[in-house]
Amino acid sequence: MKKDVFLTFDDGPNEPYTSQILDILKEFGAKASFFACGKSVEYFPETTQRILNEGHALGNHTYSHSIILTFTGFLKREIERTTEVIQKTTGVKTNLFRPPWGVAAPWTKSYLKANNYKIILWNINSYDWVGVSAQDIEDTVLKKIKPNSIILLHDGKNAKLHHNRSQTVLALPSLIKNLHHRGFVCRSIPI
Ligand SMILES: [Zn+2]
Repeated sequence: MKKDVFLTFDDGPNEPYTSQILDILKEFGAKASFFACGKSVEYFPETTQRILNEGHALGNHTYSHSIILTFTGFLKREIERTTEVIQKTTGVKTNLFRPPWGVAAPWTKSYLKANNYKIILWNINSYDWVGVSAQDIEDTVLKKIKPNSIILLHDGKNAKLHHNRSQTVLALPSLIKNLHHRGFVCRSIPI
């Protein structure tokens, strides 16, 4: 019996890291989910298209990853705008949403529900966003792994361009190999 786990990457696309991650996923036959910022999708349309072409899931992570708009709950326009950008870029309308920092005000949740979005959070925080080493990222994830874990990783940072994600990229081959050894299959989150 195979056990599913879900690798998720937030805040991209962000090159060259997103393409490097896609290359590794392809090499290992693993699928993942990318929660993209609209602003970054506009900047890297081809990478965004590649995510879908290679069978991964693409979700909405707001347009600009604004700390003020997230914590004051004014995310409606940010969400709409990202859905529009993704649709214009790829032809696909995504219903997966992950709020920045995992924070959604009650009225943001109501808006999401009324518009048929699914909020996808996580159960394993890799802490790759604090700048730890590849080995630490791998150890943190493997220590907590169980079937159906949703693993938080980052291919970008807050919709910034070219933020260094080399430790996340470096962690990935060994992490996936270890997951496979333990009988896990890396899948994308179903839409
Ligand atoms: Zn984020």
